Amino acid sequence: MHELSIISSVVDSVMESLAAYPGARVKEVRLRVGALAAVVEDSLQFCYGIATEDTPLAGSVLVVKTLPVRVHCVPCGQDVEIESLQSFRCPVCGEPAADLRQGRELEIESIEIEEAEEAVGP
Ligand SMILES: [Zn+2]
Repeated sequence: MHELSIISSVVDSVMESLAAYPGARVKEVRLRVGALAAVVEDSLQFCYGIATEDTPLAGSVLVVKTLPVRVHCVPCGQDVEIESLQSFRCPVCGEPAADLRQGRELEIESIEIEEAEEAVGP
């Protein structure tokens, strides 16, 4: 499953970031996902639940932020938001626009952690 491999790499990078904070737990992970990345949020959430079991991420919240597709329109001289993924045309002037500027992102926007409390001894 596409989403599972995405989530595995997300969990891997979060774990790497956590290495600097021994004992810390993750509260929230925010992802930025472009509308063209072809992922289903429900599947991401489902895979996240499985992939974070028995890790410091267990029980944390996954927030998925979908980014609209933006292309650069030459006649208009600006970046415009595509309204329908069926037709890559500038909604302002109607010209075909294929110069993709946003929409394929799949990245971690932020990670919220809870640092370990002061050690009270073993
Ligand atoms: Zn245009």
